[in-house]
Amino acid sequence: MEIIDGNRISAEIKEELRKEISRLDKKPGLAAVLVGENPASEIYVRNKKRVCEEVGVYSKVFRFDSNTKEAKLLSKIDELNRDDRFNGILIQLPLPKHINEKKVIERIDPIKDVDGFHPLNLGLLLAGEPSFVPCTPLGIQELILRSEYEIEGKHVVIVGRSNIVGKPLANLLLLKNRKGNATVTVCHTGTRELEKITNTGDILVVASGRAEMIKGSMVKEGAIVIDVGVNRIEDKSRKSGYRLVGDVDFEGVKDKVRAISPVPGGVGPMTVTMLISNTLKAYKMQT
Ligand code: NDP
Repeated sequence: MEIIDGNRISAEIKEELRKEISRLDKKPGLAAVLVGENPASEIYVRNKKRVCEEVGVYSKVFRFDSNTKEAKLLSKIDELNRDDRFNGILIQLPLPKHINEKKVIERIDPIKDVDGFHPLNLGLLLAGEPSFVPCTPLGIQELILRSEYEIEGKHVVIVGRSNIVGKPLANLLLLKNRKGNATVTVCHTGTRELEKITNTGDILVVASGRAEMIKGSMVKEGAIVIDVGVNRIEDKSRKSGYRLVGDVDFEGVKDKVRAISPVPGGVGPMTVTMLISNTLKAYKMQT
């Protein structure tokens, strides 16, 4: 069994990005918008800023308190759309309940939408002409290909159909090109006999948000397993009082599979790295 090392692969990609960025006339720029005090969002934004610094991307975090009015946020996005220091804009989700996420995402100029959540970019992906593809699906694709596993011709089973992971990933791997061209099955809570289907996946990607739900009996012998899940579970033996686990029961499947991505250290670091890759892409499209 091989561990698919997201830290190593993302370090490799970051080095390539850093070299390419160092040759540009001007630094690409990324604006991050953070609303409220969600501790997980704080960590994500801090990580993204740190990676920007590592590779030479100019970044700035715009903070708003949790009762900020939607109109104020929208006018900030209008301002960032016009600000040519920033090639990419990311809105850290989730937003507070009183703000309409859909409206906020739709306000971003699609050419600066480095998260790839704007309906125009999602539509282009569906139409087979991808522009900005969401970072987690892109990271999953790179993780598999750079580990030298083929996607083309394989049966990929995805558990989860969210707009940020499952659906865009299914469409990305369906594209008729060398990095895709897979046969894709997407499962969700309405799926009957889930175990029968997951057992047919040459590649099984799990993004259900259910801690350790995929057991050994649900995985095909020799499969490649990508675990997207990030779940905190109580662990009194840790100083923090918790530990992170994926959506796959790692111990239960590890002896059956050919390769598996761990949590943490699998998909997580790839997501942030692909954000930088999209920011560089935005820079090139805009200059
Ligand atoms: P969502 O909660 O938006 O979606 C979960 C999906 O899984 C839904 O489509 C749901 O089905 C399906 N699902 C849930 N339970 C089951 C079940 N028992 N059987 C079959 N399908 C099920 O989650 P996200 O896509 O946003 O995230 C998924 C996981 O990935 C989370 O743990 C999240 O933290 C993690 N994540 C990690 C990232 C990273 O960079 N490492 C980035 C993004 C997410 P239905 O549609 O029917 O409700």
